Amino acid sequence: MQKEYVFYDTVGIDFPLDEAIELVKSPCKGDFLVSNDPEAEAIIYAPEINFYLQHSRDSIANKISTITKLYAIRALGFDFAQDMDYSQEVGNKVLIVSDDANDEALKAELREEDFTVMLLSSSIILDVNGHIGSLHVTLKKEDELLELECDQILWWNAPSFAMKQSGVYDPALLGLEGALKKLRDNKGEYHYKNFINYDPSICQYHERRTEICGKCAEVCPTVAILKEDETKHLAFSHIDCHGCGGCVSVCPSGALDYTQMPRIAFAHLSEYFKGATALIIPHKMDLGLIDIPLREGVLPLMIEGEKYLHEAHLLNLLQTSGNPIIFYTDFISKGTGDVIRILNEIFEKKYHKKAIYVCEDSADLARIFESMESFPECMYGINEDGLRKREIFSARLSHLVDGEDLGVLKTGEHVHYGNIVIDESKCTLCLSCVGACNVRALTAHPEDNSLRFNASICTNCTYCEVTCPEEGCLTVVRDEISLKPSWFSQRIMTKDELFTCIECGTPFATVKAVEKIAAIMTPLFGNDAVKLRTLYCCAACKPKVMFKAHMENENKGLSL
Ligand code: SF4
Ligand code: SF4
Repeated sequence: MQKEYVFYDTVGIDFPLDEAIELVKSPCKGDFLVSNDPEAEAIIYAPEINFYLQHSRDSIANKISTITKLYAIRALGFDFAQDMDYSQEVGNKVLIVSDDANDEALKAELREEDFTVMLLSSSIILDVNGHIGSLHVTLKKEDELLELECDQILWWNAPSFAMKQSGVYDPALLGLEGALKKLRDNKGEYHYKNFINYDPSICQYHERRTEICGKCAEVCPTVAILKEDETKHLAFSHIDCHGCGGCVSVCPSGALDYTQMPRIAFAHLSEYFKGATALIIPHKMDLGLIDIPLREGVLPLMIEGEKYLHEAHLLNLLQTSGNPIIFYTDFISKGTGDVIRILNEIFEKKYHKKAIYVCEDSADLARIFESMESFPECMYGINEDGLRKREIFSARLSHLVDGEDLGVLKTGEHVHYGNIVIDESKCTLCLSCVGACNVRALTAHPEDNSLRFNASICTNCTYCEVTCPEEGCLTVVRDEISLKPSWFSQRIMTKDELFTCIECGTPFATVKAVEKIAAIMTPLFGNDAVKLRTLYCCAACKPKVMFKAHMENENKGLSL
């Protein structure tokens, strides 16, 4: 049977590998899924396997099982990935934007390669939109606005608005040869992926009357997510998406998921880290620069789009492993930075230990290996299938808090948690807020006419606050997690008795709602006893009361 994993042995390992792994002694090309070396060609090249072997201090037995795990982790990510391949036709029209006269030579060179080339000065370009293969450039020439179309742009020191579009390359950043290679490689068929899944039903921007979210569009470094303010719809341009995952990490509701490593894939992957320490390394980091022995039980986890990690991912890894996480990276996104601070504060409060370390060189890493401590007491597992981001974090954090009161923790600029306060004297239980909340943090309970709230799954979006018709009744408390049991449970915010119709005795509204309407309408109805009576009648009895009074008056008129 064809094996999925191949190990190209360039060092002469002196122990056996798991039987699922094909051992080869020379470069090969097979139908493999994962390899440890690019010379043993496979769909996935996993450099962390050789890295682990070179640096690990584990026993032989542990090495054998860890190497198998490293292959399995990569295979799991591949199996669960939901990315889709797309392609876009890219023609030969190139615009060179430069103020250097020497670029005439470059223009001639590209023309020889069958490109159609235009050369313009940056001073006349007002705007660029569209995407690779279909870029629209707005120019101002002698007081006239012109539109120009091209497939790709080579733009020296391009302004940030231009760099947001796919198909724009800056030789000042990539080097001229690098930028030209891009142009040549893209010509013809340009292939791209869909990195993001989107669920509008829990999006806090989608079709809201006022803008209460849009964090994804704010953090997107390109034009891959744009807000359509008229309709309050998000517009996704997958061709412009770099797959950085920043939007996934800041999305408060979990409306966005990273297709390369969906939440559920990560939950399964973390199982391989039971009792181990995850050393998370983004692909862009150079493994060759880590030149220290790995502490026993440390497992590298190489990831793409490292910005997608959020609080539910990282707490899962901490509670599955019972060990701190080490993030070896030269860049932490704002959302992930907030999450790391929040989790570190929680773990300091609970276990007096640090949860997540960030480092970017071997010396730092060595210091962390010396000082880091396990916390097996935090280990906890849940089935995350079907749960949303906040539900996962809530269940996990609630277990960690475990009945204690660990105080209040401030959340961040990019990761928001909070609470709400309801002024019972003003609430009429109209339930507008329940209708406004699309994540079911606020719920109505007909069995006891109560309004209940679970702070731990509230996204702090404030839409309930702007929807509540009673001024000063509902207030959202921003940016804090109350680390005590009540924050994780459904609390009764207010409740009321039902008012029964004074005609037929059917309950039809809450006492507060009837009293409120009566207070508004009584002065308007003056001394009209019939109208005043209808205020306390159900919908079916109101017209009956009016009709009865009308007939009585008619009859009185007849008898006179
Ligand atoms: S961050 Fe999430 S909830 Fe907010 S607008 Fe974007 S997709 Fe919607
Ligand atoms: S309770 Fe209010 S602030 Fe919280 S998610 Fe629902 S609508 Fe948004």
